[in-house]
Amino acid sequence: MSALRTPPVRIVPLGGLGEIGLNLLVIECAQHAIIIDAGVMFPEERGFGFGRLLPDLSYLEHSRLQIDAIILTHGHDDHIGALPYLLRKFHVPVYGTELTLAFVRRALSEEGPVGVDLRPLRPPMLSQLGPFGVEPLRVTHSTPDSIGLAIRTPAGLIVHTGDFKIDPAPIDGIQFDTERFSQLGAEGVDLLLSDSTNAELEGRSGSESSLKSVLSTLIGRTPRRFFLSCFSSHLHRIRQLAEAAHEAGRYVVPLGRRMAESVRLGLETGQLNVARNTFIDRAEAEFVEPRRLAFLTSGSQGEPLSALAKLANDTQPQVHIEEGDTVVLSSRFIPGNERTIHSVINSLCKRGAEVLYEPLAPVHVSGHARRDELREMIHMVRPRHFVPIHGEYRHLALHRALAIRSGVAERDCFLLEDGDTLVMADGKVRRGASVATGRVIEDGEEFADPGLLRERRALAQKGTVIAIVAVSMRTGKIVTGPHLLSRGVISGDGTSSHMTRARGEVLARLKILDAHGRTDGTQIREEMVRTLRRYFSTSIGKRPIILPYVMEV
Ligand SMILES: [Zn+2]
Repeated sequence: MSALRTPPVRIVPLGGLGEIGLNLLVIECAQHAIIIDAGVMFPEERGFGFGRLLPDLSYLEHSRLQIDAIILTHGHDDHIGALPYLLRKFHVPVYGTELTLAFVRRALSEEGPVGVDLRPLRPPMLSQLGPFGVEPLRVTHSTPDSIGLAIRTPAGLIVHTGDFKIDPAPIDGIQFDTERFSQLGAEGVDLLLSDSTNAELEGRSGSESSLKSVLSTLIGRTPRRFFLSCFSSHLHRIRQLAEAAHEAGRYVVPLGRRMAESVRLGLETGQLNVARNTFIDRAEAEFVEPRRLAFLTSGSQGEPLSALAKLANDTQPQVHIEEGDTVVLSSRFIPGNERTIHSVINSLCKRGAEVLYEPLAPVHVSGHARRDELREMIHMVRPRHFVPIHGEYRHLALHRALAIRSGVAERDCFLLEDGDTLVMADGKVRRGASVATGRVIEDGEEFADPGLLRERRALAQKGTVIAIVAVSMRTGKIVTGPHLLSRGVISGDGTSSHMTRARGEVLARLKILDAHGRTDGTQIREEMVRTLRRYFSTSIGKRPIILPYVMEV
């Protein structure tokens, strides 16, 4: 009799493989599943009024999986932002480190109350979640208390790095646990899933602590107020600014609700280990000389409602940018946001501020491993199989090639995109059948599928013409119309020569229809659409969206 086979394990990425953001990975075994991270991303095309993009969860909704846990690697929005959406659909316990759960509590309270079971993880604590044994691993990243995961499954050992860099001198003194990663490597890791964000960049990302002296120098040469803009979750950067400002005899003023909350959260959790009287609020700052103030603002990606954008537009209450102020944008410009950020920088310059950002000054250090650190990870873990995660296709492809050059066999390095799956069985890994993935768009309080984005884009790019005609229910004859209304196609009030001619053509076509005794609503609508499409295409070379309406009176 043959031995009982262990159940296979399936790796199902629903987001984050093929894009930066939207991270969500499902690991399944014997009808159980755990979810690692639930992130959002921002649409590249701003200006259509939509909010964030979320991963489409229909695969999970249609599966009969029992989801035992959602495990969060850290508190960035591209890892926790979709959690409120996910928790509306699945009542599942959420695991994360103390600070990550504090960020989650804030996100949940922003998006309305959800009854949720939050369970703290603290390395090296082990949790048995269904068939999975999960161990958090200390990593360093651009928000404190970040973890990777070792996941023991019936089919083998998986290591998931989360977002990481290997910072030799982390601000909080909590080191990247190279020893534990190496121990796991010695034990035998079947599959490594590793962060690819910086796979294009040679060398190492450098230590966060290198920024302190840069900030001190910049603060020292600023005659008036000093402003630093960074992600509000970057408590280590906030701490460095606070220390540098305090040493220079300045108070720190958080601007904007999210930044103020982060400071409060950092002080409460001990992550902002600075003198409490370092921070004052905006009202108190009014009584302090400009040269004794340093402001912290969010909005380093140019977000229109952020404190930084308000400073740029001079709509920030009580605080106005003046000659002699310095503004530092301490973050990477996320691709797709450059134009908005540049416009904020232009406005700040016009108001007389000196604005500093990379590469003008070394005012940012990335939280993601560069190629030397990625190699180091592979050498520590020595995985049998490798999958690059968290990146656009080019990042994943480069990271896969790096893994092959670092000694993982080519056939054992997989390049997966969202929806591609892997099956692990008895220590072997192969591709599985793909599953459906997609994106959901936040539209006000609603969630929409991307069809709505396409529709809104078409409305914006092409404009619309509405054609209305009233038909007698009794005789089937046209009583009034057609009336044409244009939005974004022909300027003016609808009496322009084009609109008059278009109306004339529609009327002529409807009369022909009428003469043939064929005047049902569907035919009238089709004829109006056809005629108007032809007219606007040949006369002005435009293809507006035509909305026909037949009123029966
Ligand atoms: Zn991150």
